[in-house]
Amino acid sequence: MDAPVSATDALIAAGRRLGSRGLISAAEGNLSIRLDGERLLVTPTGRRKDELTADDLVIVRLGHEGPFSSRSGYRPTSDLAIHLAVHAARPELGTVAHAHLPASMALTLAGEVPDPTALPETAYHLPRLPYLPFGEMGSRELADRIAAALVDDRDGTEAPPSAVLLERHGAVAVGRDPEEAVNRLELVEVLCRTWRDALVVRAARATVGNVETPRPEKSKEGA
Ligand SMILES: [Zn+2]
Repeated sequence: MDAPVSATDALIAAGRRLGSRGLISAAEGNLSIRLDGERLLVTPTGRRKDELTADDLVIVRLGHEGPFSSRSGYRPTSDLAIHLAVHAARPELGTVAHAHLPASMALTLAGEVPDPTALPETAYHLPRLPYLPFGEMGSRELADRIAAALVDDRDGTEAPPSAVLLERHGAVAVGRDPEEAVNRLELVEVLCRTWRDALVVRAARATVGNVETPRPEKSKEGA
């Protein structure tokens, strides 16, 4: 059975947006959308996610790593375990999105973990951003840790997180639909870029002290 056009279009648009924002390169990143209680529509492995067509997408069954169906014959994302585990853990959600966000990888490579409550936008939309130490890409072990982090409601006292930050491996975000999940990935990257830039400014200040910003001289003509 084919996937509904609305789900197909939403997944293709989300892949394009990740590409247009510079959040994925080459064949990186993957997305899934829940079609019903039994099936997911997922992106294929080895393909650019900003150039997908409807035929490239793959239908998989929840709770199973196979069999799957695809008009193109492509296999599902190599991170399928993440999508299966998170959709199983958060059945109320529609979408799971994962990208190797460049600034997030740089920060975590340097051992830095940003605090989402430091910026108003992320404090509001992503007040909790769990950080997970590195796990083997595509492994069940990593998928289970991501799913566990995304269901942690602190004994019912707080809403569970909407995204997790992975050491040297970007982030995973969830949402009602692909747009919301990609919005959250974008916010994680904005937080990481801002955190990185603040570190650079502080480091420069510590090295050379405060530097007065040169001002252009006023034109004698007053123009
Ligand atoms: Zn990945």
